[in-house]
Amino acid sequence: MTVKTRFAPSPTGFLHVGGARTALYSWLYARHHNGSFVLRIEDTDLERSTQQAIDAIIESMKWLGLSWDEGPFYQTKRFDRYNQLIDEMLADGRAYRCYCSKERLEQLRQEQMARGEKPRYDGHCRCCQEEHSPDEPCCVRFRNPDEGVVHFHDHIRGDVEIANSELDDLVIRRTDGSPTYNFCVVVDDYDMGITHVIRGEDHVNNTPRQINIYKALGAQVPEFAHVSMILGDDGAKLSKRHGAVSVMQYRDDGYLPEALINYLVRLGWGSGDQEIFTLDEMIEKFSIDHVSKSASAFDTNKLKWMNRHYIQTLDPEYVASHLEWHMKDQGIDCSHGPKLSAVVKALAERAETLKDMAQQSRYMYEDFTEYDAAAVKKWFKANTGEVLDRCLEKLQQVSQEDWKAENLHPVVEQVAAEMEIGMGKVGMPLRIAVTGRGVSPGIDVTMELVGRARTLERIRQAREKLASA
Ligand code: GLU
Repeated sequence: MTVKTRFAPSPTGFLHVGGARTALYSWLYARHHNGSFVLRIEDTDLERSTQQAIDAIIESMKWLGLSWDEGPFYQTKRFDRYNQLIDEMLADGRAYRCYCSKERLEQLRQEQMARGEKPRYDGHCRCCQEEHSPDEPCCVRFRNPDEGVVHFHDHIRGDVEIANSELDDLVIRRTDGSPTYNFCVVVDDYDMGITHVIRGEDHVNNTPRQINIYKALGAQVPEFAHVSMILGDDGAKLSKRHGAVSVMQYRDDGYLPEALINYLVRLGWGSGDQEIFTLDEMIEKFSIDHVSKSASAFDTNKLKWMNRHYIQTLDPEYVASHLEWHMKDQGIDCSHGPKLSAVVKALAERAETLKDMAQQSRYMYEDFTEYDAAAVKKWFKANTGEVLDRCLEKLQQVSQEDWKAENLHPVVEQVAAEMEIGMGKVGMPLRIAVTGRGVSPGIDVTMELVGRARTLERIRQAREKLASA
């Protein structure tokens, strides 16, 4: 059997980290088994589905690298198919028209609740079809079996069993003619040959009902795994209050997809003590049976730690391709200045996120006239004019070709030695002059990145503006 899994989001909002983890597990399961992965957009809820949400889901899946082999399929394009099956089921009695009014259903519900019973449809219309004219409004219900139990083995939650007497006759087509989620999902999984349904635990109660529909369609019932929820670090349901929850917000905040993927795979699954997994390792080791059934708490600090790890260890050219997005996002024009991969190398140890890295590198691309006032106050002394003059004089002698950190470092050393002052008393005013800030990578590396012309010009500017005394 070739494994086929799917991710089937309803496009009613952005893709949040819980959905992304479910998608990841489903994707990994398919990849681990050399199977295929389907993306299906469950947009039957016309009122709540939006194109913006569809776009956001697709963008998030692409950013995460969760590639699909088939799709995206849209349920709204498959209404003919659902209706064809519903009509067949109506014809042979697997489904029936229900003419019960809202008022009757409400009264039934009230009575059942008053008796302390679970509200459920009583099957009233199972047997009175001929009393209605064909154009009378009605919905269609699935005739659920009356007897026996539905049992399935959930790969995460273990055995689940429910008596059919607990299940009522589900509406499969609403009065307005639109088929319902529980029906469409079964038809789709059947038509698309899905072998393993891996989805959020909020659907575990739907599964027995859906299994009955599979059986009524004569379809092979797939296997199921229901993934638990993600909670905030305070144990409450993850929400905006805990910071970012949408996948794209993590991109905007400066995380690498590798960090988020690695973080999410570990949140609820593990293999020994290993924390860092390459994609290939995840694919090789992933097992749905080892996914935890308890809810997991989102730990932003651990995600940050992983993000730093990937910023520092992935190929700088690759990291630079993500940094470029942030430079644009922050309106920094990178066409004149150091190569982004050089920025990554210089700042990897200093930046927690790519957003932060972009902020920290702005001075490499843009001139400025403002300086960090506290740094100026601390480091600009009576002799700073002389420090900058001496630096400028020596730096001017370093050619464009030789403008490398290793040739710039001796300049700072020489000035310090000549003036008999510490290196910091040269390096810090120089740094403030060249970057406008009190913090940057080593001053030699910084000057290399800022480049010869800009460095010399900025020393002159600082000399004039700050150290004219
Ligand atoms: N469309 C459903 C949701 O977004 C998922 C259905 C499924 O995976 O079976 O919650």
